[in-house]
Amino acid sequence: MNTELNIFGLTRAELEETLVDMGEKAFHGRQLYKWIYKHRVFDFSEMTDIRLDLRAMLNREFSVDLPSIADSRKSSDGTEKFLFRLADGKMIESVLIEDDSSGRMTLCVSSQVGCALGCRFCATGYLGFDRNLTVGEILAQPLIIRNLYGEEAFDNLVFMGMGEPMLNYDRVMAAIEIMTDSLGLMIGAKRITISTSGVVPGIRWLAQSSSKVHLALSLNAANDKLRRKLMPVAKSYPLPKIMEAVREWTTVRKRRVTFEYILFKGINDGDENALALAELIRGIPCKINLLAYNLVDGVEYQRPDDEDIDRFARVLYPRTPAVTVRKSRGGDIDAACGQLAGRKK
Ligand code: SF4
Repeated sequence: MNTELNIFGLTRAELEETLVDMGEKAFHGRQLYKWIYKHRVFDFSEMTDIRLDLRAMLNREFSVDLPSIADSRKSSDGTEKFLFRLADGKMIESVLIEDDSSGRMTLCVSSQVGCALGCRFCATGYLGFDRNLTVGEILAQPLIIRNLYGEEAFDNLVFMGMGEPMLNYDRVMAAIEIMTDSLGLMIGAKRITISTSGVVPGIRWLAQSSSKVHLALSLNAANDKLRRKLMPVAKSYPLPKIMEAVREWTTVRKRRVTFEYILFKGINDGDENALALAELIRGIPCKINLLAYNLVDGVEYQRPDDEDIDRFARVLYPRTPAVTVRKSRGGDIDAACGQLAGRKK
């Protein structure tokens, strides 16, 4: 039986403490941390600034185990989707997406295996919830992608893959701590976005934390009646409460929030929906991302026509600060979150 402790995912303080518990100096924990996260060296024997007998001891006591890539697919538009197999055989996804206008790369990562929130348009929602990811499983996603494509593999990182990050808040924040650390992955906090479906306590925690990460809200409807149909989580967190928490975040953090609005044909893409959206977000420092629905097998919703998307944006544009229309990406590779894992399952 493998009795080694997997230390992948331990924070700097935890690694220092682990080494001190072994009777060693705390700075060895820092060395170990830097080798693993900054240099992506997982073999203790290659950690050349650590003394030989300590390396041998680390080898006996610890392991550095990461998930493996079970599958990857590249779309004709450059979007690449990765399916990771975790130690217990569960599958999660990450997607590398190229922004059409700037050419910048965004890595979309998962925070849970499956999701309990059951949004009606989402393949992950249909999988149901399995478990929260560990800190190491969250962190492994950007780290493995960097191992494949180098430090410049992505410019931005968003928690918009499988799962609701605010329902795995502590581990997501611990992973972000390592991602942003100068001895860790050194990703600027401002390049990281947590996207939530509107879990109010999480938005408040983020407002009260010292984290400089960006906040996005998956809104998709400007009234609760329609929102409850699309996103059952709206029953627990009505829009007035969500907007109050979002305002708090923008005030405390002095940042603009991003509202994500997926357009569904004939459901939320009319002029009256655009006007209601403008009214809902009035006075909130924000940007709006409009996204045409990415079709999911077996789901009733349809993608709107391009003219309807343009019309919606034109109604919204003069009334709101910043509107971006995003193309759906990776339609030929099941890039919408949960689709690939769903097929494997
Ligand atoms: S959209 Fe996000 S919150 Fe909703 S079911 Fe899918 S993964 Fe969960």
